[in-house]
Amino acid sequence: MKRLYDTLIFDLSKKGRIGYQYKEKNLDEVNLPSDLLRSTPASLPEVSEFDVVRHYTNVSQKNFGVETGFYPLGSCTMKYNPKINDELATIKGFANIHPLQPEHTMQGLLQIYYETQEMLSKISGLKAYSLNPFAGAHGELAGLMIIKAYHQKNKDEKRTKIIVPDSAHGTNPASATVCGFDVVEIKSNLDGTVNVEALKAVLSDEIAGLMLTNPNTAGVFEKDILEISKLVHEAGGLLYYDGANLNALLGHAKPGDMGFDITHINLHKTFSTPHGGGGPGSGPVGVCEKLVEFLPNPIVTKKGDTYHLELAKDSIGNLGMFYGNASVYLRAYVYLRTLGKENIKDVGSLAVLNANYIKESLKDIFELPIEGNCMHEFVFDGLKDISTGVKTLDIAKRLLDYGYHAPTIYFPLIFHQSMMIEPTEVESKDTLDGFIDIMRTVAKEAIENPELVKTAPHTTIVRRLDEVKAVKQPILKYKDINSNN
Ligand SMILES: *Cc1c(COP(=O)(O)O)cnc(C)c1O
Repeated sequence: MKRLYDTLIFDLSKKGRIGYQYKEKNLDEVNLPSDLLRSTPASLPEVSEFDVVRHYTNVSQKNFGVETGFYPLGSCTMKYNPKINDELATIKGFANIHPLQPEHTMQGLLQIYYETQEMLSKISGLKAYSLNPFAGAHGELAGLMIIKAYHQKNKDEKRTKIIVPDSAHGTNPASATVCGFDVVEIKSNLDGTVNVEALKAVLSDEIAGLMLTNPNTAGVFEKDILEISKLVHEAGGLLYYDGANLNALLGHAKPGDMGFDITHINLHKTFSTPHGGGGPGSGPVGVCEKLVEFLPNPIVTKKGDTYHLELAKDSIGNLGMFYGNASVYLRAYVYLRTLGKENIKDVGSLAVLNANYIKESLKDIFELPIEGNCMHEFVFDGLKDISTGVKTLDIAKRLLDYGYHAPTIYFPLIFHQSMMIEPTEVESKDTLDGFIDIMRTVAKEAIENPELVKTAPHTTIVRRLDEVKAVKQPILKYKDINSNN
């Protein structure tokens, strides 16, 4: 049976139905040229106020988000995004800036661009930043283009290979390939760290650089990082740091001090912009001193009391239009200013504490492949007792019945039943205890009533999906679902 709210707002439309909203005051009337005006009115749904409110309230409840419940997704996690930052990012003076406005009329935005560049430099130990790229992967591409430009400038064009460990985020090899490099994959140690011998074996005068995440995707800090960076530099390569998730290190350690030459940072993960479904994002790219001249445009400089848009001397160009994603770096700016130098350390400490608390509380029933302290996240390799055949996917689905989002599953690929858990720094002990409790309940069900877990979820709007089909043949319109074809 079709439920009342399994519908599109357009299908609720009845001719002449109407909902009212007051017009905003003080809007200037603009006289558009007549050839730009519509000749027929736009075809919009005609609905009452109730129709609209109920429709969108119901639609909003069909999804799961950080606003609905605990969301322990590892790696791509949204960390803390204070609501006040959303509000500040929409202040009209910023939101209504036109990208072609002259520099002297947008000094406020340029000041924020400049100060955000400076703060990211301090946090990461790199010389300079451009806030131009629009996502993490976009920042990676910028960084790789800089690596390429650097070797080209040195007439060292045989360097066509980028080394990527097999524990890396998928965007790393993808960005390297998009940039025209050949990817050399190296096998990781059992804990996901770089195998130094495997690294030595592939270093040569054809290596342009190494891409690395530290802590890695298994939540382990790379203890040999100084040796690794020395080896890569001695071989003439550059070191790229994937700084998508920076919360564990904040205020404690800097990529620049570890020997990294380039990094991108995901402002939409670590620095407070809510994201998902492809946006919005910002992936500033930062570099060490010898690479500053290659940064993407623009860079903002300060002369006396005024701020100026500058172009780097040998810039790789603009990656995105104009000045990057202003609403995202506005949030990052407010987030950093709110915490300040003194408190930013707590972000790292709490992220690490929360992850270790969950890990230690559950490791008697879930397989823990990497012992010892983790950073902001860790990996379980499925249940310890696998006698009833319950897998990581089943557990992830059963969690939904209890109102918890699943962890990241089947990544990293170095384990077969990976369950990557990141609680983030802001969750209370009560929330963590609630999650631990439910994980124990599900583990018990897996032994006592395995069918219940294997057929989960039972309470969600859609049940278990054919995930391959969902990716390859997505049905994006409700009618197809209801007409059985
Ligand atoms: C999310 C993520 C990326 C990519 O960031 P996007 O903004 O999604 O392009 C890269 N590396 C790691 C480790 C990530 O978690």
